[in-house]
Amino acid sequence: MATREGYYVRRDNPVQEGHLKCAGVISPSSNIPSVTYDVFDVIIIGAGYAGLSSARDLCLSGFKVLLLEARDRLGGRTWTAEVEGHLYEMGGTWIYWGQPHVYREMSRYGYTKLLDSNADKVGCNYFTSWINGKPRNISYEEEGPAVERAFEIFCDVDGNGGRRIIPYPHDPHFKPEAKQWENISAAQRIDQVRAKLSELELYTLQGFVAAISGNDMNNTGFFDILRWWALSGYSTQGLYDYTETYKIPEGQSRFARTMFDEALATGNLKYAFDTLITSIKDTSVTVEATSTSGKSWSARRLISTIPLNILNRIQFQPPLSPAKSAAHSIPHIGIGAKVHMEVQGTNLRTWSAAAWPDSRIFSGRGDGITPAGNTHLVFFAGNQKGLNAQEDARHMAAEAKKLHEMEIQKVIWHNWLEDPLSEGIWCMFPPGYSFDHLDTLRARHGNVLFASADWALGWRGFIDGAIEEGTRAAMAVVKDLGFPRRVAPAL
Ligand SMILES: Cc1cc2nc3c(=O)[nH]c(=O)nc-3n(C[C@H](O)[C@H](O)[C@H](O)COP(=O)(O)OP(=O)(O)OC[C@H]3O[C@@H](n4cnc5c(N)ncnc54)[C@H](O)[C@@H]3O)c2cc1C
Repeated sequence: MATREGYYVRRDNPVQEGHLKCAGVISPSSNIPSVTYDVFDVIIIGAGYAGLSSARDLCLSGFKVLLLEARDRLGGRTWTAEVEGHLYEMGGTWIYWGQPHVYREMSRYGYTKLLDSNADKVGCNYFTSWINGKPRNISYEEEGPAVERAFEIFCDVDGNGGRRIIPYPHDPHFKPEAKQWENISAAQRIDQVRAKLSELELYTLQGFVAAISGNDMNNTGFFDILRWWALSGYSTQGLYDYTETYKIPEGQSRFARTMFDEALATGNLKYAFDTLITSIKDTSVTVEATSTSGKSWSARRLISTIPLNILNRIQFQPPLSPAKSAAHSIPHIGIGAKVHMEVQGTNLRTWSAAAWPDSRIFSGRGDGITPAGNTHLVFFAGNQKGLNAQEDARHMAAEAKKLHEMEIQKVIWHNWLEDPLSEGIWCMFPPGYSFDHLDTLRARHGNVLFASADWALGWRGFIDGAIEEGTRAAMAVVKDLGFPRRVAPAL
């Protein structure tokens, strides 16, 4: 099945919008019968990992669940496009066995064979850094220690590698002293340590931090980078292992689909894709969700997994508290781009690069070999405003070629910033946001619960965080309603 999402361009041909094969497209797009239950137990808005994990848990517990999703596919900010026999992860990709929530699911469903697309280390084996206006190729023997030392200095806020300030990475506010590090930007922290860094260390650090944040470092809260570091075992190698090395070979869409299929097999799941919810009304007895087509559905509880950057578009009745409205009005700053290219030959498969601030490209790297025997490169970059899709692809290709000679065959991407159902990528908080707003984002509003990777306590902004949140919301519903006492259907 093909989704209407994503962009694909082959050499200089016109950009193709959508029509990319994706295992996350569900057919039929709805299984709601014309006669429905009067009131569901739970409505879940959004079929990303937060919504899918909630739906699966609640269906298994015997609740009647209605899952409503605006896209034509499941997975939300993760989806896998299959193009000419190769899988391209358009959104969330890398997972690690140390991420507790996602690995529990992977192990449960048997997705335990992981893929490190560069494990064999064959190819050019160097890193290109844009230093003082031009690219320089650096061996990994030189780059590895540079980035490691730079990150250790950057994150050593307490003489103990950050361990005293964030002793429990899944409880980020445990130490009130952490707030001082929450108030500064990544750029301010770089200024604090700049004098201790060599030129190479500075450039590699800047590229890595920009790739983590998906934004300018002035807009990036330093605390979120420090949290990633703490969650990764307070080490640079940990950062690589946890956040950008291991993939599910079958692709995220298949994995997400497995969770959906389990919920469906219980017989307790009704769903509708292509259904955009615009308002949520809590009557105190039931909650009603209404779509753009004017259709409404009711349930005893509602779980919204709508991402932070678009949450303020929903009309709530009764209105949200001033604290919640304030929190929803400040977007997270993860607004970068992820762009795939297929390039001729296999030499660049072990290539990586960092180019910010001299290029819109933050970082890039080889990500395996396509069936045509070419290299799959993946880039993280800033968005270039005002370009149409064709110009954007050309511009990205030109920026990549400035970094290294390459013959580009294809460019494939999803424009997450202009996607009205996300308006951003993974969640990164701006300076001064977490201590003031995190608890408010996590709080319920009457019978409406909120679950999203965007306000997870641990791996916030990750697939792991989405599942952490979906699980939490499902458990809150169980606590509210108690386990249903329905007679099991005859076998
Ligand atoms: C480019 C990119 C790269 C990433 N890389 C990684 C990575 O390598 N590893 C990792 O762990 N994480 C990564 N992430 C982050 C990760 O994908 C997300 O944090 C996570 O998938 C979010 O899950 P979620 O369920 O909270 O939200 P979403 O996946 O955004 O799900 C919310 C769902 O709600 C739907 N929705 C929104 N509004 C409405 C409405 N009004 N009515 C009906 N439906 C609605 C949306 O369509 C969406 O399907 C990446 C994300 C991006 C974009």
